[in-house]
Amino acid sequence: MSSAPPPLPGRENENQVEAGEVCFKHEGDFTGGLVDEFYQDDIGVYRYETKLVMEHEAELPDRCLKCNSPENIRIRTFRMSWHPPILIITIFAGILLYVILAIAMSQKGVVHAPLCARHYRKRRALGAWSGGLLLASVGALAVLFADFEKNAFWGWVSLTCFLGGMVMGIAANSFLRPTKIDTMHIWLKGVGRDYLNGLDRFGH
Ligand SMILES: [Zn+2]
Repeated sequence: MSSAPPPLPGRENENQVEAGEVCFKHEGDFTGGLVDEFYQDDIGVYRYETKLVMEHEAELPDRCLKCNSPENIRIRTFRMSWHPPILIITIFAGILLYVILAIAMSQKGVVHAPLCARHYRKRRALGAWSGGLLLASVGALAVLFADFEKNAFWGWVSLTCFLGGMVMGIAANSFLRPTKIDTMHIWLKGVGRDYLNGLDRFGH
């Protein structure tokens, strides 16, 4: 009759984690304060020159990305897409080739951006004005075509609204935009200097 060796005192195998101990291999299995404290030094968010570099899924520190204020923070989600700018040279071989390559090589990222009430409203207003003016431009163009006398007034209204909408759209886009996205990180332009100064330098 064979008998199993007695279990080692304390733990049955080396993968077992005692209560209150941080498991380095399976940190996701462990809930509670210990893991959070252990990881607070490396949050996956850094600065590189005038850009913010973050790992995908990293949580941004809870201050306004623009003015660094900790007050009345709201989260605005930005879904971003980026492709290598050098691809633009393929446009000479045909716009279709450029579009296909840009779609095929685009990298995507989601940023949950903390913003104070003032900057949250500002970004929302830029988007609303851009969309509203472009819609008004299309509306004025429709009036122009429906008008038998072809009153040039509506042509000018349409053009003015179109240009205004484009300017607002560019401003909304540059509010927070990716300058690079790869499989690990997102590089962001448009983040305030004070916010960047609170972060570790990328690669150090
Ligand atoms: Zn702000």
